[in-house]
Amino acid sequence: MSAEQPAREGTFQRLIEDIYFDRDKDRGTQGTLLWFVEEVGELVRAIRRGERQNLEEEFGDVYAWLATLASLQGLDLEAIGRKKYGGGCPRCQATPCACPHP
Ligand SMILES: [Zn+2]
Repeated sequence: MSAEQPAREGTFQRLIEDIYFDRDKDRGTQGTLLWFVEEVGELVRAIRRGERQNLEEEFGDVYAWLATLASLQGLDLEAIGRKKYGGGCPRCQATPCACPHP
């Protein structure tokens, strides 16, 4: 793990870093945010239209762009997720969540 590759080996984020990090760094966070939002829009459309054949591709794209954004911020997405949810629901600490439904 280097300072420029915050994700641990074997994670999806690290895979994306290995493939794209140099380009992503050159593009920067602002340009990457535009790509991320665009891909989120495509995922929303695919879900709303029930386009099963596009779902895998769109989920993959959003996941990759989210990973890239975390890398550009110097953050390990897996570690963040485990820190927040590894002990169960952050509010009630139960798995599954036992919070009252809103
Ligand atoms: Zn809960």
